[in-house]
Amino acid sequence: MEDKIHKVQFENEFRVCPECGYADGFHTMIKKETDTVKWLFICPACHKIFDIGYTVDLLKTGPGNPYPEK
Ligand SMILES: [Zn+2]
Repeated sequence: MEDKIHKVQFENEFRVCPECGYADGFHTMIKKETDTVKWLFICPACHKIFDIGYTVDLLKTGPGNPYPEK
């Protein structure tokens, strides 16, 4: 699997692979970077990785406590 991350402009739906046309959605993965945790999508057909601009905020939730009381 290649590690290059393809940036995608997310609009209403991200279901069809822009690289190969696979139309049944994506696998998902989480990747930690310096100050953010990215939510990435992997095409099951061509295995390319896509970034639609979503991040996961682990600083607010923290490991082991995904739903803290406010
Ligand atoms: Zn694909």
